[in-house]
Amino acid sequence: MAGEAEEEHDRAAAVLASLPVRTPLPASSVRTLTPHVADLLASGWTPGELTEHWTTGLPASYGVGLLIRRVQDTRPRVRPSTDDLASQPQRRPVPPWCGECDPEGEAHPALRMVETADGRTRRCPRCHPGVVAEAEPGDQSDAAPSGLLDELDEAWAAGRAG
Ligand SMILES: [Zn+2]
Repeated sequence: MAGEAEEEHDRAAAVLASLPVRTPLPASSVRTLTPHVADLLASGWTPGELTEHWTTGLPASYGVGLLIRRVQDTRPRVRPSTDDLASQPQRRPVPPWCGECDPEGEAHPALRMVETADGRTRRCPRCHPGVVAEAEPGDQSDAAPSGLLDELDEAWAAGRAG
């Protein structure tokens, strides 16, 4: 939110202004560098780490330019957790949407549901990832051909009549 960004901005300016160095950064440099430092803080750097990173091993007769360059050269941290998550392969490939069940299923495989004759919903036997992964390819055992029930009804009716 805007408030958070402002807070980050203020923290960044404070870090730059309070560096334990002989010659503080000029206000104009602080202004220029503040957005960059705000990004660094947002990426996981702490003010203490940044201060140490920039001030450790400074030569006795350093110029402000060197300090500014160190700040500019500092890269945002990559959060390993996010990285791991993104690089993790999917356990199973998601089958393509069959085009016949819930239209939402095209974008959200978990929503690939079909309504049964008795009004209940079940996972689409053609394209729901859970069903397709469990079933053998081409296995239609749980999807009775619609004609079969009609035939049974007719046979039953015929039997009653006869
Ligand atoms: Zn489907």
